[in-house]
Order: sequence, then structure tokens, then C-alpha cells
Amino acid sequence: MAARVKLPGSWPARLQSWVGGAWRPSTSASVQTLPVHCSALNKTLCEYEVAGTEDVEEAVRVATAAQREWARWAPAERGRVLRRAADILTERNDELSALEAFDTSRPLQETLYVDIVSARDALEYYGGLAATIGGEMIQQPNQSWAYTIREPLGVTCGIGAWNYPMQSAGWKAAPALACGNAILFKPAEDTPLTALALGEVLREAGLPDGLYNVMLGAGETGQLLTRHPGISKVSFTGSVPTGKAICRDAADSLKKVQMELGGKSPLIIFEDTDLDEAVSATMLANWYSNGEVCSNGTRVFVQASIKDRFLDELVRRTGKIKLGDPLDMETQMSALINEKHFAKVMSYIEKGQAEGARLVMGGERVSVEGDCAASACFMTPAIFDNCTDDMSIVREEIFGPVASILTFETEEEVVRRANDTDFGLSAGVFTNDIRRAHRVIREVKAGTTWINNYNLAPAEIPWIGHKSSGIGGSNGTLGIEDWTQIKSVYVEMDKVDCPYE
Ligand code: NAD
Repeated sequence: MAARVKLPGSWPARLQSWVGGAWRPSTSASVQTLPVHCSALNKTLCEYEVAGTEDVEEAVRVATAAQREWARWAPAERGRVLRRAADILTERNDELSALEAFDTSRPLQETLYVDIVSARDALEYYGGLAATIGGEMIQQPNQSWAYTIREPLGVTCGIGAWNYPMQSAGWKAAPALACGNAILFKPAEDTPLTALALGEVLREAGLPDGLYNVMLGAGETGQLLTRHPGISKVSFTGSVPTGKAICRDAADSLKKVQMELGGKSPLIIFEDTDLDEAVSATMLANWYSNGEVCSNGTRVFVQASIKDRFLDELVRRTGKIKLGDPLDMETQMSALINEKHFAKVMSYIEKGQAEGARLVMGGERVSVEGDCAASACFMTPAIFDNCTDDMSIVREEIFGPVASILTFETEEEVVRRANDTDFGLSAGVFTNDIRRAHRVIREVKAGTTWINNYNLAPAEIPWIGHKSSGIGGSNGTLGIEDWTQIKSVYVEMDKVDCPYE
């Protein structure tokens, strides 16, 4: 294992936060450490120091000074730095994808094509947009006029989830930096590696020190950021309960909040669709990334007339999924992120059966030969049939490879049932009826939706959750709106109209 995944040569043996373009040994009174562990291999690669109060104070100081200068740069120059960083990520894709696969226990066959690439695309996209950031002109009476300016927010922070660490860092850092902000990013405690690597990459690309900082640690470190009065925005990716807690913490200093939270999304399959396509999408929407994807379509609504054929095919193809070592290119699914999360996902297998759903296949703890033999976090992908809308497996986010099959008769019925949830992250519809496709998507209350595909997330398309799934969002021009504030300027071209003598 050690030979297959190595920390970059320039890194310290015990990792530290990345502040002001350098590793920062923690100066907090009692330095705590956490392990960098791969659950699939049950191996610890190294440990890292948790950032405490003094470390966050120092990072905010450094970032504040750096941001003042950065905001004065020509936006096109800022963009050039981001585009250079994108090129470096492309060059280092193989090495960083292996680190990501180790850290997340997600298959290398995914991380090689999605994770680093997704951060790269965001840097490239916002690097290109930087020079276009501007305001509008609004005409007023008597030749007067007003204009608006999009200003940076200042020092901001990002807090990431563990499923897509590099993507999370890139999706937040790219628009933040393009808009002239500094960012303190805290990766999830389970997966700190690639956010740190992004620090080195940005430095090599010419980003001035202090603009992108990585604060390592768990929730307590996150709280130091969300409560800090010198930070003007929190961009959070994680669960709904943590998101609500962060909104409360951020309220004291009235920070701008951007929330990218959980989901329990509907994937709606009509009888007129191409069955193979629908099964492919259902597998991508449930098994990709070990099922640990926020937008997954885990409520699979299938029109009753095709349900049996659909289920047979889904079971047949799911039976061929290859579970294994995340670093083996043949592996299609690997271990869940850690034992606590594994236990949570497995508890839903019991709940589903206890509440009357039929476990058609999977949901078993299994062991995998070879380097993964010591892992206790492997499970087979689970398919439940005969599900009803009130079951826990249908209502609650599981965040693992558990699909619930629900049948429906009519369009009106499925739209009503799809919307019967507090979540509103994503939705997909499969049909060959063009009018129905658009009608259903218009009626579904979700922010990020697909017609005849699932889970695509290009940098140029907004990624956003409605209802309890979020506030604001990432990607597209939405990113520019979310990482700037508007100033309006009235320009008087006539005399001041004044009633006073
Ligand atoms: P989580 O809410 O437990 O933790 C997320 C992050 O918040 C971690 O970095 C954690 O250290 C930090 N944190 C925890 N408590 C905190 C506090 N009080 N103050 C500040 N920071 C705190 O979520 P998770 O288990 O890491 O990730 C899974 C969740 O993330 C799922 O609900 C999933 O749907 C969601 N998610 C959403 C998106 C999206 O784009 N909408 C993407 C990925 C994951």
C-alpha cells in the first residue's frame, strides 16, 4: 500500500494546516492530532495537527492582508493564475487521484476522471469569467444615471464534506478567488489530503500567499471559522443538521451563508423510456461513489407497467458490480468512509425490512480479499422493492448504496409524491415524451435536475438545492453572484433638487 499511495515529497511527515502559502505547525496550547485513514485498506497513512484558536486567528490576519492586495489586481490577471492552476492539476491528475481514492475509499476509476478534473474545470471556468465580472448601468431622470459594482466579500471560509474533497475545495476556491476574495477552507476531518495539495498547486500557479488557506480539523475548527467576526461568508457543504447549526453560529456576525446540503432525490421513470438507459442512470444514481453522493436518486419511481422488467434488469446488472480495493482500476465500488457511517447505513437495511419493504438483493456486510481483508466497511449494494412513501428508507437520507423502488400509475401522482419531502436538491426524469419531460421537471421542487440523464455537474451549470437542501449554490454565473456583493452608485448630472431654502 505504502508504495501505491505516497504523500508528495515536499510534505511534512505529520501534516499541518496550510497558512500564508506554507505549512503551519499548530501553536494552540495543546495540539491534537487526527489520523489520515483509508477505511477500505484499514490503513493509516499519517496524522495531522488540528487547527485551534490561535491558528485560525493567524490565518484570518494573513488572509485579510493578502486580500486587500488581491482585490486590486486586474480581474484578468486573477483569472490567469486560476487557469495556470487548472493546467497544473491536469499534469498532476494521476498522483492526486490516487490520494483522493485512498482518502475517500472511492474507486480510482472514478477519481481519475471526476474529482481532480471537476476542480480543474471550476478553476478554468472561473479563471475565464474573472475578466467579465462587472455591474450594470441604470438610467435616471435628467441625464443622471446609476451603476453597480460587484465587490469582493473579503475573507471568506469554506467547509467541505468527505465524499468529494477536491471538488468541494475547488468549487469554493475558484469563484472565491476569481471574485477577489481570500478563503480559509476546512476539509472534512476524514479527508484532508487533496485540499492541501490544492494549496501547493495554487502557489505554484502564482497565487499570492495567504489567499487560499487550509485549516485542518473537525467541527470545533469549523466553528472557529463560522463564528469569527473577521470572516464575511461561510460556504458549507454537508448535512442539514450541521448546516442549520452553522447558520445559527454565523448569525451573530451576520455572515452571508451558502448551504449545499443533503437530499433524498426522486428519479422518475416513465413507461415510454428506453429501459436500458433508465437502468444505467439508476445505477449511476445509486452506486456511483459507493452511493455516497448528496444528489443521488435514491427514490426510484418506476411506472407500474414496466416495474417488473426494470427491476429484473437492475438486479441483473447490479449483481455484476465489482467491489474491491479502491486503488485497483477494475473496482467499481469500495468501502464506506468509516465504521460509524457504515453502521448507520446498515441500520437502514434493518429498518427497511422491519417496516415492510422487500430486500431484493444486497445490504450484506462482506469482506474483500487481498489488501482490503482487514476492512469492516464493505457492503453489497442494496435494492428494496415494495416501498411506500412513509418508510424511513424512503424519507431519510442514507448516504450509502441503498435504492428504494416505488411504483406509480400517473404523472400527477408521481409529481405529488416526488415533492412530498423537505429536501429539494435534485431530481431526474426519464421519458421520450418531450412535453412531459419538461412539464414534470417544471413541477418538481428541486434545484439541480436532469432529463434523460443523472448526476452530471459541469462547472458552467448552476448546482443548487431548494427547500431544506440549501441556500445559494455553486457553479455557473451563480458562483459570481454568491461570492460578491453589489454596490450601487447614483451619479447626479443635474442640480440637487432640494425643498429647503
Ligand atoms: P457533516 O455535516 O457531518 O460535516 C460536514 C463538514 O462540517 C465537515 O467538514 C465537518 O467537520 C464540519 N462540521 C461539523 N460540525 C460543524 C460545526 N458545528 N460547525 C462548523 N463545521 C462543522 O456532513 P458529512 O457527513 O461530512 O457529509 C455528508 C453530508 O453532506 C450529506 O448530508 C450529503 O448529502 C451532504 N453533501 C451535500 C452536497 C451538496 O452539494 N449539496 C455535496 C456533498 C455532500
